[in-house]
Amino acid sequence: LVSRLQPFTSTIFAEMTALAQRTGAVNLGQGFPDTDGPASMLAAAQQAIADGINQYPPGPGRPELRAAIAEHRAGQYGQQFDQDTEILVTVGATEAIAASLIALVEPGDEVILIEPYYDSYAASVAMAGGVRRAVALRPDPDTGRFTLDVEALRAAAGPKTKALLLNTPHNPTGTVLTDAELAEIADLAQRHDFLVISDEVYEHLLYDGRKHHPIGTFPGMAERTLTISSSGKTFNATGWKIGWVCGPKELIAAVRAAKQFITFVGGAPFQPAVAHALRNELPWVETLRQDLQRKRDRLSEGLAGAGFKVLPSEGTYFICTDVRPLGFDDGATLCRELPERIGVAAIPVQVFCDDPATARHLVRFAYCKRDEVLDEALLRLGKLT
Ligand code: PMP
Ligand code: GLN
Repeated sequence: LVSRLQPFTSTIFAEMTALAQRTGAVNLGQGFPDTDGPASMLAAAQQAIADGINQYPPGPGRPELRAAIAEHRAGQYGQQFDQDTEILVTVGATEAIAASLIALVEPGDEVILIEPYYDSYAASVAMAGGVRRAVALRPDPDTGRFTLDVEALRAAAGPKTKALLLNTPHNPTGTVLTDAELAEIADLAQRHDFLVISDEVYEHLLYDGRKHHPIGTFPGMAERTLTISSSGKTFNATGWKIGWVCGPKELIAAVRAAKQFITFVGGAPFQPAVAHALRNELPWVETLRQDLQRKRDRLSEGLAGAGFKVLPSEGTYFICTDVRPLGFDDGATLCRELPERIGVAAIPVQVFCDDPATARHLVRFAYCKRDEVLDEALLRLGKLT
């Protein structure tokens, strides 16, 4: 393996899911739901297969899906994208992120990541030959909310910055960046002329009345933003791997050039099904969102009852906890022991950080699970000490 990929041999999600399977643990590690998406979407995929939509789709994606994505971005956020030149369908958000970086980052260019960062970001920056600069979200000492370190961000941005890879709602912290935090990023992007690659896979999963504000809608940002999302989290279909990237046509043409030689195309029969869901199943998504908010509360209360310090989750599938009140000081050691010890799997947050010490005591739990699964996990976690 080439040296630039040696730090990335195995993802924490694969490791913890394998450990959970081996030990029969309740898996609150890897973030995937344990119920299916809307029935009409599943039926549409079956129909597409029956109708023979089983060969290579067009390079940019099937037209009905690109049209549905354009309508969705316009309807939800007022963003305008031309379906023929400004939208590219990808194999999940993961490919959209990797292809964007490979297409746009020259070797040695700097890419700012907001830390803790989703694990594929660092590997994708490395594949592109870029140099990552991590800027922290840190728990506010009073509220526990993960807050952008604006001073560190200003210090990290400069002439070498090619792009900032943004994610809100944010995995793993569950933070929804505020308009003020996003405005700071937008201001720096324009001042230093860098791109923003905005990972919005949790765009529909915000709680307590919060609204998703894509950074591409901020003044001056449409021309320098790539907006990425996917059907996995919105429609409980993480295995379908239908994602997309939207942006100015020159940038999308570049991403398309890279994408065509990575996977070429993908998921033909799922594409019309996701188009159908984007057009018809947003009320189902609102029910999902309400359900997840309730599950967040259920797991937060249970974890607090079991002795964890629970940090607020404003969106996504995830809660971060501080394990020090339970007498543990290393989340990674704890997560590697938990499945065998009490039969629960979780994810140590330090694996998403350049300096593991900054998140040594934090552990992430996923709440995108059936209530009985959450309750069983809580029962077991109650026996931790
Ligand atoms: N970005 C974030 C922040 C994620 O949590 C995930 C995992 N679902 C992805 C991207 C990957 O999305 P996809 O499965 O569509 O590739
Ligand atoms: N996004 C999911 C998570 O954060 C996992 C996806 C994966 O396993 N790559 O848990």
